[in-house]
Amino acid sequence: MFFFFTCGSHTFQSRLKGAEHLTVQCQNCGNFSGHVFKRWQWFTFCFVPVIPLSVKPWHEVGCHICNFYQDIKYRPDVQAQMGGPHQQGAMPMNNYNGGGGGGGGAPPGQVYK
Ligand SMILES: [Zn+2]
Repeated sequence: MFFFFTCGSHTFQSRLKGAEHLTVQCQNCGNFSGHVFKRWQWFTFCFVPVIPLSVKPWHEVGCHICNFYQDIKYRPDVQAQMGGPHQQGAMPMNNYNGGGGGGGGAPPGQVYK
């Protein structure tokens, strides 16, 4: 028995409504080239999307220069620009802005190549 069918996955990507106008800094290359995307991965059968692999689309900040995509939950600055969830009384624990350096490593996220 041989399967001729092709299974795979397809990721839909579009600008997030309400945030199309936003241009934010990419934490990977430092350029102000990041845009907010809505990404939704589907399982495909014969190139036809049939089952969503996640319950709902996830929101990411994507950079077209270095192809770095980062979950928007790591970018409270972007959420603030979007007028995101208002967190009353939320105290930022780590409120240092840049500088210092030393350790830390790469920001959370991933690079699609
Ligand atoms: Zn970048």
